Amino acid sequence: MELPVALIALLNSVGLVALVAMAYGSVIRITGKPIHTGILTGLLFGAAGVISMIDPFVLDPGIMIDGRNLAVALSGLFGGGLSVVCTLVLVIGYRLLEGGVGIASGVPSAILSGVAGYYCMRSAAVRPYQPRTLVKLAALVSCSTATVFLLPWEFAVRIVSEFGFFFTLLNFVVILFAGQFLSREEARLKLEVRLTEEAATDPLTRLANRRTFDLKAPLLARNASVTDRPYSVLLIDIDHFKRINDTWGHPAGDDILRQIADLISEQVREGDLVSRYGGEEIALILPQLGAEEAQQVAERIRASVDTKQFRAGVQLIPVTVSIGVAVSSRPPRPFPIVFKAADEALYLAKHNGRNRIELAGGRPLLKNAAE
Ligand code: GH3
Ligand code: MG
Ligand code: MG
Repeated sequence: MELPVALIALLNSVGLVALVAMAYGSVIRITGKPIHTGILTGLLFGAAGVISMIDPFVLDPGIMIDGRNLAVALSGLFGGGLSVVCTLVLVIGYRLLEGGVGIASGVPSAILSGVAGYYCMRSAAVRPYQPRTLVKLAALVSCSTATVFLLPWEFAVRIVSEFGFFFTLLNFVVILFAGQFLSREEARLKLEVRLTEEAATDPLTRLANRRTFDLKAPLLARNASVTDRPYSVLLIDIDHFKRINDTWGHPAGDDILRQIADLISEQVREGDLVSRYGGEEIALILPQLGAEEAQQVAERIRASVDTKQFRAGVQLIPVTVSIGVAVSSRPPRPFPIVFKAADEALYLAKHNGRNRIELAGGRPLLKNAAE
């Protein structure tokens, strides 16, 4: 008679866990820092645990059976230490409020389920989890129900004999089902992050690609004009790169391009945009930098390439770059105009002998160190 009622109560928990699994996908997408993800995941599973306790299967007054341990265990497995602590606080807090003789078993079994989830997370070899890890967790959660023996003996015997098999089966079904679902969400997110990153990145240099530049550069320029700050555009082009390729081969050329990209990345601040604009052209947007500072950055880049020893085997390859610099003026000009000015300055730098910097629309404030 009681078994169908228990089945319905626990199937409700299955539905709840499925809902949580869906919400978990959103949590891991919207949160960036692990600490936020841990807390939000903990609150999510905690809410699920508490909701499952609102309409439990009441075995005897004060002895409630529901899906809280499953929520706690999954919180430990997917959210980690901080998450399981948050979930336990909610679940145990609510259980204490309910009161009754079952607390003696309910609280320790919730803690053991949480420890089981956390232990399985720490000991798992791979993530997203394999079914092996989920089976281990289901077995440990089933073992944690042994805390019923902390209750008066007649309750314990009754629970184990009437519901033991059923609960164990349910633990396995829910944890395998929800665990697979949550793992799939994680795998999907990982793939999404990787594909988004790859779509924005140049594979050879790992710099932002042209697509990212076209999207971000006008935004940086607009931000600068809204906040009434300047910004600078640097266009860097490797000198006689075709000759380098022809003399030392394309793989050596690729290697030089990669090393120059690294050198440039080392010279800029967080928030600057460095992108591979074309074949051997690298474009920089430096927010907040005026003419003098932008030229200082350009000169550092020029000098670092000039002095670096590029090699093909034992042979040294001399490599230099030319740089066009343009600065937004006040009131700011549209981005395409500033960019075109940087391109013209680059052309001038080539024309004036390469391995040098030219500032658009005026004499350089800094003397070219290469002169
Ligand atoms: P300049 O000093 O006037 O810039 O001369 P340059 O030879 O660098 O200019 P040009 O535009 O004629 O040649 C650019 C060369 O860059 C041609 C192309 O083969 C090479 N290049 C473009 N992308 C890559 C790349 O990904 N790897 C390698 N190895 N070479 C590349
Ligand atoms: Mg070029
Ligand atoms: Mg070139």
